[in-house]
Amino acid sequence: MATALKIAPPEDKISNFVSRTHRILINGKWVEAASGKTFATYNPATGEVLARVAEGDREDIDRAVKAARAAFETGRWSQLTPSERGRAIWKLADLLEENLEEFAELESLDNGKPLKVARVADVPLAVDLFRYFAGWATKIEGNTIPISVPYAAGAKFLAYTLREPVGVVGQIIPWNFPLLMAAWKLGPALATGNTVVLKPAEQTPLTALRLGELFQEAGFPDGVVNIVPGYGETAGAALAAHPGVDKIAFTGSTEVGKLILQAAAGNLKKVSLELGGKSPNVVFADVDLEDAIAGAASAIFFNHGQCCCAGSRLYVENSIFDKVVEGVAEHANKINVGSGQDEATDMGPLVSAEQLNRVCGYLESGISEGAKAVVGGGRHGDKGYFVKPTVLVNTTEKMKVVQEEIFGPVVTAIPFSDPAELVTQANDTVYGLAAGIWTRDIQKAHRLASQLRAGTVWINCYNIFDAALPFGGYKQSGWGREMGHEVLEQYTEVKAVCTAL
Ligand code: NDP
Repeated sequence: MATALKIAPPEDKISNFVSRTHRILINGKWVEAASGKTFATYNPATGEVLARVAEGDREDIDRAVKAARAAFETGRWSQLTPSERGRAIWKLADLLEENLEEFAELESLDNGKPLKVARVADVPLAVDLFRYFAGWATKIEGNTIPISVPYAAGAKFLAYTLREPVGVVGQIIPWNFPLLMAAWKLGPALATGNTVVLKPAEQTPLTALRLGELFQEAGFPDGVVNIVPGYGETAGAALAAHPGVDKIAFTGSTEVGKLILQAAAGNLKKVSLELGGKSPNVVFADVDLEDAIAGAASAIFFNHGQCCCAGSRLYVENSIFDKVVEGVAEHANKINVGSGQDEATDMGPLVSAEQLNRVCGYLESGISEGAKAVVGGGRHGDKGYFVKPTVLVNTTEKMKVVQEEIFGPVVTAIPFSDPAELVTQANDTVYGLAAGIWTRDIQKAHRLASQLRAGTVWINCYNIFDAALPFGGYKQSGWGREMGHEVLEQYTEVKAVCTAL
């Protein structure tokens, strides 16, 4: 298997896929949008048109939801044995692994991320995720519950719970890890017997569409997985509001998360949200300096800072502040910024012109308010959507660059001396997704881990993800958890059954 992974797909396979006009997957068929419209996606390294994609809208969403409903009601997925469902998901994982190189190339073209990163992170993590949830398909269990019933003296009952699928699930995903976010959403939904309508981000639909083909190849029944590319304000909003959808799962900005919640109120569909972050990464003076500097740099610069959990607020104990800032700046200087397709590239472009403007806008705002860029501070080159890896100092707590999610390769470095004040500062954000702690003192590490209001705390590491580890946010970073066994609760209803004996 290991050798199979290294085989590169023929170049024409990728270009044939990219250059076709992409359609919508509804009920096992690839169809044009009801409106006949298509939209363009762009190569973020050049700004040139990359692909044309059917523009799904309300009517397409409606058809997809009806297909998912029919697939659910007929039980062609939920009534398979758990073992059959698990094997189908495992087969999908095998197919994805066999096509690893192709998926890595598509992801790199579409999103801009370095091919070498997609090859070792995005695609293998997605494969692993599907395998993990293939295993769960046979382990969705309820409980037997001893009950007392005070008003029925002497009566005996057998009471138990069943975990059943929620039904038709709408899933809306972002562009920062397009394939992996599709996997995070689809894996648990399918393992628990739901049927799905997935809307990928307008910037990065290609790997989701190719994944749709693999679902067909793996033998998933028609209508179980429907994929509708399109815009958020049209297709996404229609999915969130659709009365035939039982649950909506969303990853993206906190702002849109709130819109999803409003849209979901119509039929009170279940909602899970994985939203933004402004995560504190704390470095104590007793640390292994080299490790902490490398860790702090990768916490913010991985995926060009386009991570909801990016370590974007770097708090460093006073006595080592200058050394750490200098070290992170050195790392930033060594980052090779270029096209994701180039094997030498460490950091590709941001995903879109919109993100480029947004991140540069934050940089201008921070610098105009008195922040200083020790390294970086603006756009890289004049073609494509590249931004220089940036370290900002001289910030104040109320600046936008310290409070708001920038979603680019920009870290604000802030000195601290009093650990109690540090806790207040680190928690002074509307977000609560992740945090990092760097110290050799385990007592200090675990004490701070318990004080930070965040869904994930990494100690002497950062950006460690695993299908078995739950991920999600406190406060405005979201509702519910992705991955781990915790996510299964988001995709199942609990039925209590009580029998008089
Ligand atoms: P959005 O939150 O707008 O996009 C995420 C997904 O939601 C996309 O599929 C998008 O569709 C869809 N969407 C947008 N509007 C609606 C709507 N009204 N109803 C239903 N779905 C909708 O993120 P952006 O792409 O605009 O990025 C803006 C900022 O959001 C980033 O700078 C970053 O701060 C944050 N973000 C956070 C992410 C995370 O992982 N938590 C991921 C991405 C962004 P489409 O793209 O087709 O419009």
